[in-house]
Amino acid sequence: MGKKLTSRSEDYSKWYNELVVKADLAENSGVRGCMVIKPYGFAIWEKMQAQLDKMFKETGHENAYFPLFIPKSYLSKEASHVEGFAKECAVVTHYRLKNAEDGSGIIVDEDAKLEEELIVRPTSETIIWDTYRKWIQSYRDLPILVNQWANVVRWEMRTRLFLRTAEFLWQEGHTAHATRQEALDEAEQMMHVYADFVENYMGVPVIKGTKSESERFAGAEETYCIEALMQDGKALQAGTSHFLGQNFAKAFDVKFANKEGKQEYVWATSWGVSTRLMGALVMTHSDDNGLVLPPNLAPIQVVIVPIYKGLEQLDAISEKVEPLVKELRAKGISVKYDKRDTHKPGFKFNEYELKGVPVRIAVGQRDLENGTFEVARRDTLQKETVQADAVIQTIVSLMTEIQENIFKKALDFREERITVVDSYEDFKKVIEEKGGFVSAHWDGTTATEDKIKEETKATIRCIPLNPEQEDGKCMVTGKPSTQRVLFAKAY
Ligand code: AMP
Repeated sequence: MGKKLTSRSEDYSKWYNELVVKADLAENSGVRGCMVIKPYGFAIWEKMQAQLDKMFKETGHENAYFPLFIPKSYLSKEASHVEGFAKECAVVTHYRLKNAEDGSGIIVDEDAKLEEELIVRPTSETIIWDTYRKWIQSYRDLPILVNQWANVVRWEMRTRLFLRTAEFLWQEGHTAHATRQEALDEAEQMMHVYADFVENYMGVPVIKGTKSESERFAGAEETYCIEALMQDGKALQAGTSHFLGQNFAKAFDVKFANKEGKQEYVWATSWGVSTRLMGALVMTHSDDNGLVLPPNLAPIQVVIVPIYKGLEQLDAISEKVEPLVKELRAKGISVKYDKRDTHKPGFKFNEYELKGVPVRIAVGQRDLENGTFEVARRDTLQKETVQADAVIQTIVSLMTEIQENIFKKALDFREERITVVDSYEDFKKVIEEKGGFVSAHWDGTTATEDKIKEETKATIRCIPLNPEQEDGKCMVTGKPSTQRVLFAKAY
């Protein structure tokens, strides 16, 4: 297990990296910027996937799969899209290697140059809209509500495990609609679906809103987003949903005959969340002892550790524990009974604390005599002794209680870190000293936004949905503004 974690106050960034590695979530690989997701980390991701997939299907979407490679000419068809992604593209130029004639090893066979270079998908709008042209002729073919689970590659320069990697796993929804309003509604709906998932399963509170022009997805007319706040006061974009207008339909010539038989361009959305959510989960709830996982996503919800001397005691404990395991499983709770004799209970306690298992039950000789279990919760680190006949009910209630408690804790933390300011002086001070979200008036121009970013590193995280209409003056230029926007330093 090794030495204790670096504490958050000592070095937040180091704490995060150590935790991800020590809790067996992921590690760096031999490929720059690309990570290995380990079984325990992948088990959490699978739970996220399963729940999101269910929510997508409940809102009428189906899964499909499109190629990993995108011909360069496709990517170039939508001008702002290619401009946004050009700097991060991995390009395949050849399809064969050969032995060097001078015996120096394997080299690229220059004779095997691709006629057209292929881009490893950074996102799939182009290949999908090239396909939709073949799928869509009339209004009867609409809407198309498709999602893909896949990996994508964006050649990021500054990478961090889960939060920003060169290759990441995600889902990307791509929908096609007959009307502008229907596409807008879809984009907004998916933002709500994401918020529902992130708040109620991950226990991470988010602010819903839209992006300013400069933060918008390349090729989108509007980007809806959910923004979360990490424990170091930095914001994290947790999910995005884009209204793409008719941009991709025009670039790929995707038209449909409307009810009157007139040809119209199709309206589009795309939306995605990635393995970055794993980073958000770790950074929101965990503490200096390790991960704190929400019961709704924990691969192991309850761990049972026997405390015994000799096989006889272990057998007596197992006799008590095995029916409990069965009953808990029957209630849909995932339980691990860790009776390994290769590790001491103290070691196991530390391990499950580090791995964020929501509830730990310990059973020793005294519990056997008293007919009790010791129940410890990971979120508050509190322990209580529970009578055997009440233990199931206690655990069942704890699942909801812990889920709600960690959400509330994160929400309180965030609420304390939304500061309303009216002057640029105050703004700079809050961004520098306190962090978190700063709510301020802005004149709506990219020039002002750029100036603020350059001077403070803070960006507009979102223009909150359903704002209070409040006439004010931009804190920088004094020009009129009708609503406050949220700034923060971000990951
Ligand atoms: P986008 O297609 O840029 O709107 O991104 C879709 C989702 O992927 C958003 O939730 C982003 O936060 C996330 N994302 C973007 N870039 C990365 C990256 N390099 N690593 C992990 N997640 C990312």
